[in-house]
Amino acid sequence: MLRVLATLALALASAEGMRSSAFRRPVHSTASSIHASTAIAKSMPATVKPGVVTGQALLDLLEHAKANKYAIPAVNVVSSSAVAACLEAAKKNKSPVIIQFSRGGGQFLAGKAADNKDDAACIAGCVGTALHVRQVAKLYGVPVILHTDHCMKSWLPWFDGLLAANEEYFAEHKEPLFSSHMLDLSEEPLEENIAICKKYLERMAKINLLLEMELGVTGGEEDGVDNSDVDNSLLYTQPSEVYEVYKTLSQVPNGMFTVAAAFGNVHGVYAPGNVKLTPEILHNSQKFIKEQIGSSSDKPVFFVFHGGSGSSREDIQYAIEAGVIKMNIDTDTQWSYWDGIRSYEAEFHPYLQGQIGNPESPIKPNKKYYDPRMPMRRAEEFTAKRLGEAMADLNSVGVCP
Ligand SMILES: [Zn+2]
Repeated sequence: MLRVLATLALALASAEGMRSSAFRRPVHSTASSIHASTAIAKSMPATVKPGVVTGQALLDLLEHAKANKYAIPAVNVVSSSAVAACLEAAKKNKSPVIIQFSRGGGQFLAGKAADNKDDAACIAGCVGTALHVRQVAKLYGVPVILHTDHCMKSWLPWFDGLLAANEEYFAEHKEPLFSSHMLDLSEEPLEENIAICKKYLERMAKINLLLEMELGVTGGEEDGVDNSDVDNSLLYTQPSEVYEVYKTLSQVPNGMFTVAAAFGNVHGVYAPGNVKLTPEILHNSQKFIKEQIGSSSDKPVFFVFHGGSGSSREDIQYAIEAGVIKMNIDTDTQWSYWDGIRSYEAEFHPYLQGQIGNPESPIKPNKKYYDPRMPMRRAEEFTAKRLGEAMADLNSVGVCP
């Protein structure tokens, strides 16, 4: 009954929003959101269990996020230490989390000296760390989504390798190794982007993998791809383009997909005033598609927010209202990880200049200070704290039972 009422309230709130000519940016109070999150946690679908979620459980989690207006932070990791920081933040904040690898991150995880012929190291690093995440995630009591980030057309051999690993895992475990993967063919013409996505989604749907696709261009620089001087119009997606994607990918049996639509977002963090976000594009796309397909849902599309680092809480909240269920955070956690190491070095500098000898005595050993776990642990603490702030911004604190 409670759930029905909550859904009704949501529908009324949405109808309210539809009536006003311009969508108003909502104001949220922290006190009421804490009460709300307890009720939200109680309504978490039973399919969503601690550990890596895939298939129906993944879909149920994303629906739960959309219905309850929270988004899940997606963090690019390049070490098991960063994995631990993500899981720590998720556990402490009772929030789901998305752990993702970029292609370059995968290679780094395998080790820079590993043979990378035909993307072998990029693939092995992602697959190996995915298996690691599967082993440890269930010890943290929260749902975890395993994902890979941008894959452009020339990187498809990496994607093919990942899909092969999923198919192999599926044959044995009846579920894929990862929860989802991203294809970013936004540099290609729209028809080609959609056609390749459809082809891959058909293969992915057979093993319950979700596809994240990209429309328009996320500005800035990430993982060696520099879009910082791209034509401005490409930074803003049209609702009709989102509809084309929705129409085509919805035809794939058992197909699950999300859309990373460009609304002025950029990778990286810049001085205030340099980024003009227009999350109205997401609202307008939902409205347009709802009208085209006669959907009973006000938000037929799952949207993904790339380049979330450095965004204002107001823009994030507004994007969530428009159906954003995933926000990528890379730059801010890169900084927090480094900032932890920086703070550790600053605090213990005189103990870190040689193996023996510190301010206490010229013959005292410093082993306990330079043990790599010491600075890395500080990096994890700083990152888990920063992620906790992101979870608060995304309304995902306390949504897990
Ligand atoms: Zn991105």
